[in-house]
Amino acid sequence: MPLYSYEAKDPSKGCEKCRNGFDTVQPLAEARLERCPDCGAEIFRVVKAPALRHSKTDLHYRAKRAGFNCLKKVSKGEYEKMY
Ligand SMILES: [Zn+2]
Repeated sequence: MPLYSYEAKDPSKGCEKCRNGFDTVQPLAEARLERCPDCGAEIFRVVKAPALRHSKTDLHYRAKRAGFNCLKKVSKGEYEKMY
């Protein structure tokens, strides 16, 4: 089953789980989550670029910490994270 990542649209409204993003395994047929199952905050699905799929590298985290967090809108409510 595919692994999806979600993140709060507004991290200040999210709980600890969705503020930092979380991964969840969902069957393909299952509708994408729109709200955090824990706190109900609005979330969006992060589509991981294949090149980044197998490594959460230091670079990845450094870029994120530096605030370099560019989101490309893929479709309604779905964003691709560009680093
Ligand atoms: Zn939450």
